Amino acid sequence: MSLSEHSAAADARPATETRPGNYFVSNYPPFSFWSADQRGAVLDALRDPPRDAGTPLGLYHHIPFCRKRCHFCYFRVYTDKSAREIQDYLDCTVEELGRLARMPLIEGRRPHFVYFGGGTPSYLSAQQLGELTDRLKAILPWDAAEEVAFECEPGTLGPGKIEAIRRIGVTRLSLGIENFDDGLLELNGRAHRSGEIYRAYERARHEAFEQINVDLIAGMMGETEANWQRNIERVLELRPDSVTIYQMEIPYNTTIYKEMQAAGRAEAPIADWATKRRWVKEGFAALESAGYHVGSGYTAVLRPERTQFLYRDALWSGADLLGLGVASFSHAAGVHYQNLTEIGPYSEAIRRGELPLNRAYRTNAEERMIREFILQMKLGRVDTGYFREKFGADIVDRFRAELEGLEGEGLLALEGGMVVLSRDGLLCVDNLLHDFFLPHHRTNKLV
Ligand code: SF4
Repeated sequence: MSLSEHSAAADARPATETRPGNYFVSNYPPFSFWSADQRGAVLDALRDPPRDAGTPLGLYHHIPFCRKRCHFCYFRVYTDKSAREIQDYLDCTVEELGRLARMPLIEGRRPHFVYFGGGTPSYLSAQQLGELTDRLKAILPWDAAEEVAFECEPGTLGPGKIEAIRRIGVTRLSLGIENFDDGLLELNGRAHRSGEIYRAYERARHEAFEQINVDLIAGMMGETEANWQRNIERVLELRPDSVTIYQMEIPYNTTIYKEMQAAGRAEAPIADWATKRRWVKEGFAALESAGYHVGSGYTAVLRPERTQFLYRDALWSGADLLGLGVASFSHAAGVHYQNLTEIGPYSEAIRRGELPLNRAYRTNAEERMIREFILQMKLGRVDTGYFREKFGADIVDRFRAELEGLEGEGLLALEGGMVVLSRDGLLCVDNLLHDFFLPHHRTNKLV
């Protein structure tokens, strides 16, 4: 990379005030390069048996329903669907899995990990959950899966619900707390309140899930220094197995962005990036003092030897993933794809007997290498030997200019065959990743 190109990438990093757009890098190449033209590549990939029998398989099920839409939400979410409509949607996802499971790429394989995301998976009733998972397992049994992860909104977790979640085999329960302050929860449009958090957490502990994760967001509207500290103190009192802290971003399809537009504001009404990074840094430091280990730019876990997050680690190492449901993302033998993003067209495609494909991207070997490298950077440590063995690539040589530039800024170091990010590097890791994109993929348009 020339010096001028390096400056251009650095300029693309967000200024310290929070402006609209996506900060979090969740995949590579960026979504803006995926297209409807490449949907044929999905069927090509699914029609061939796996080239590498050792590639793990995951299953993602998207439940796009919530009690209420949070003002910062950028997911495909419905708050107005009737019980009949929800059942129709679930029927479609079962049909979708049946179709995928018969494809040569999938036939005979068993999921290593399962993830229920949303939306709010815990919005479903105990009965719906039981029936849905029985039907899915009849198609693709996951009794041997190492991890079954499930996202919950605290206000949806009555006693019967949480027992049902345990019964369907969930091992990793993730509780979307985001903040403990009722005023902030209200201001940001969350449906739950702090009383529901404590009741849900206690019930989850009573059910003895293998792992409980809690999510917080640093920089919600109305956040203050004192309240952020209280959030961390409360998490420490709960002592979950895993704590995930996101830095608040304001993508274009959020209610907050629409309100900014209406008011003619360029800056979001939340803390700037430097403050959010400091809050996460202080949060991580407090968690470390209490025995936690920071395992990525967003997570701290209590017992790293026991507290794995297979979904993340497998995906960031090239696993195949079948995404079921509206707008869900999949990865099949090097082809990325996303489903149709509205429930109507999604269900109609399923009823026509088609796969509900929206857009796709067939990666080449270099893009797959870059993808795994940038995603593993989020863990804070990248093993260069892994890339030599899997891709025949010397990543230090391949990215020498970029790595030396970041080393000069004190954001990472090369230590005994590992690329190791400093804490400051880790806290802004998503900003650093664009430097490693192929030049024609460096763009601010990420979604
Ligand atoms: S609970 Fe999650 S998915 Fe649902 S509206 Fe809020 S942020 Fe979006």
